[in-house]
Amino acid sequence: MRLVLIGPQGSGKGTQAKIISKKLKIPHISTGDLLRNLRGELKQKVDRYVNRGELIPDELMIEILKDRISKPDCKKGFLLDGFPRNLRQAKELNKLVEIDKVFEISIPDEEAIRRISGRRNCENCGEIYNINTSPKPKQDGICDKCGGRLYQREDDNEKAVKKRLEIYHKETEPVLKYYNTIKINGKQDIEKVTDDILKELDV
Ligand code: AMP
Repeated sequence: MRLVLIGPQGSGKGTQAKIISKKLKIPHISTGDLLRNLRGELKQKVDRYVNRGELIPDELMIEILKDRISKPDCKKGFLLDGFPRNLRQAKELNKLVEIDKVFEISIPDEEAIRRISGRRNCENCGEIYNINTSPKPKQDGICDKCGGRLYQREDDNEKAVKKRLEIYHKETEPVLKYYNTIKINGKQDIEKVTDDILKELDV
């Protein structure tokens, strides 16, 4: 099963990707995470774009993605979160593998900004909280799970979020027309969104 989740920042696509991939026992490939986990010179190059909320160059992104999906754990399928983000990436992906289903999770821009500007990540275990929505941490700035410090991603500030949404509308929305997407309403409870996706997968 090869799946793609597309949605603006804050649509809950990363949260759903985690739940669905676990359920289907396929790897969750978040290109944002792949880039954040880079090290050294490449990391420095990539960070210049990521921190400003801009897309990194296609050639580089496609190479990183190709490398990841050629790993043995992807043989029985995978779930892509954050790729493809423009038509060129979609066409390149099409040359590499056949995608079974593409989900489009939608939410209005105001809601996306509210959710993203409240997002806080644990610097230790990676757990994600939201001080504007949920789950809120029990103690301000501290991870419930491991006691680690919570921080705000550099590209989650309002200016970068607006830029990322602008790019989404301009570059990623044409990808939705390229695929025959399954539309999911992202402005519902997490559990309801998961149910709506699973219904389409017959699991
Ligand atoms: P995300 O965690 O999916 O919001 O991605 C964070 C950042 O990583 C984006 O704002 C881009 O700078 C970069 N990025 C992630 N996926 C891609 C992609 N498919 N193409 C280009 N840049 C990407």
